[in-house]
Amino acid sequence: MKFLIIGGDAAGMSAASRAKRNMPDLEVMVLEKTHDVSYSACGMPYNIADARRTIDDLVVRQANIFREKQGINLLTGHRAESVDPAAKTVSGRSDAGHAFSFSYDKLLIATGASPVLPDIPGIDLPGVMALKSLDQGRKIKDFIKKNNVKHVVIIGMGYIGLEMCEALRERSIDVTMAELSSDFLPWMNSELSDTVKKEVESHHVRLYLGQGVDRIESKNGRLSVVTPHLALDADMVLVAIGITPNSMIAEKAGIELGVNRSIAVNQLMQTSAKDIYAAGDCADAFHVVSGKKTWIPLALVANRAGWAVADTVCGKPTQLDGVCGTAVFKVFDLEVARTGLNETEASEYGFVPVSEIIKSRSRAHAHPGSTDIWVYVVADQITGRLLGAQMVGKEGAAHRINAAAVALHARMTVEQFSQTDLAYAPPFGPVWDPLLTAANQILKKI
Ligand SMILES: Cc1cc2nc3c(=O)[nH]c(=O)nc-3n(C[C@H](O)[C@H](O)[C@H](O)COP(=O)(O)OP(=O)(O)OC[C@H]3O[C@@H](n4cnc5c(N)ncnc54)[C@H](O)[C@@H]3O)c2cc1C
Repeated sequence: MKFLIIGGDAAGMSAASRAKRNMPDLEVMVLEKTHDVSYSACGMPYNIADARRTIDDLVVRQANIFREKQGINLLTGHRAESVDPAAKTVSGRSDAGHAFSFSYDKLLIATGASPVLPDIPGIDLPGVMALKSLDQGRKIKDFIKKNNVKHVVIIGMGYIGLEMCEALRERSIDVTMAELSSDFLPWMNSELSDTVKKEVESHHVRLYLGQGVDRIESKNGRLSVVTPHLALDADMVLVAIGITPNSMIAEKAGIELGVNRSIAVNQLMQTSAKDIYAAGDCADAFHVVSGKKTWIPLALVANRAGWAVADTVCGKPTQLDGVCGTAVFKVFDLEVARTGLNETEASEYGFVPVSEIIKSRSRAHAHPGSTDIWVYVVADQITGRLLGAQMVGKEGAAHRINAAAVALHARMTVEQFSQTDLAYAPPFGPVWDPLLTAANQILKKI
């Protein structure tokens, strides 16, 4: 049997390695259009922050290890261009210009996503960058060094924009950010997002909300980001307004698309075409709280879905429960975390949401070094079910959110969650963990 995989990063290489471990005799071939495989995209902002590090230290496993030690036929510089589900072939072209066509018995599409680049004048100017692939990270790092970049405008205030803002400030680069939405972190409760916004501004970053960018101009060797009310000058512009799934190859093959034009899959990651699976940023998933399809492109689901497809292909059908959108990021001294639904999303999915915000402490009363920690929780007034949580704090928010995520997977009510036996010791939190305090408070509203 031949298992062919398109895409050689998180989902693709997880599937390839797992399949080879499961069935050493299985023929596994991976087509990767770039020359980078199996790297930590998530580590790029932290790597860019440190001029002494090479971007290649983010590579988790080198291509030759996959080939020589694991027996995976990994073809880098091979771009898949079309899939023929009837003939069971994938065709494309190599860097050297050679056309290829490979057959498969089972196919996994793990093509990831690409940064959204607005169709505005100047988007192709030198120094206008985006960050998704390792090569884009490499180019950003080289550009900063060669051009002695002193000022960057970041378009977009999502988590990648904010992580990059911190990275650039770390290198003493002046940062201005512009965002179309008039709300900062619009998915977040405003009390919590105000705290994050103040943290960013306190690091001398200028934030311009409600600013749609019309064009980027080049003037006297510098760039200028132009909105209806502003012209923001920069040596480099980073476009970080979101990503879009690389689903074109599937669409061309007649495969059904789902949320946000990602590839629609069932819980076995099967697409609408026989023997074709999709996993990672290019595919949709079920949301464990709403039960509906969603598209939340993050690393764990890509790795896990890759494993599950490999197990299924190797004869052990493996269904995934789904995702609940658990995500964390750090911006300067704050940890920002979320899982599940906010009130607006909960209403859209037909729940009757109630919410509560509490401010607690990261360590026990009077324990040195204790800092504020904000918790926002959402529950369904009809069933009492916990629907989501968000947290912000200097410490103890990032990992604490996982307790709420587990409660969402277990479909717990707030009452059940309020009875969970969470750990306590003074250096790690108050006796009543901040999540339990939030649960006890929201219980009064249900
Ligand atoms: C800066 C940054 C920070 C991030 N931080 C976090 C984080 O903190 N936590 C988190 O959970 N997630 C984070 N992510 C997201 C995470 O990196 C992705 O969810 C994950 O990489 C998705 O893996 P994937 O294999 O689906 O897609 P990708 O990693 O995009 O890999 C897809 C691969 O397919 C290849 N490919 C595409 N089309 C073709 C084709 N036609 N032929 C051949 N090859 C093709 C691409 O070159 C690529 O190598 C971050 C992402 C970025 C960019």
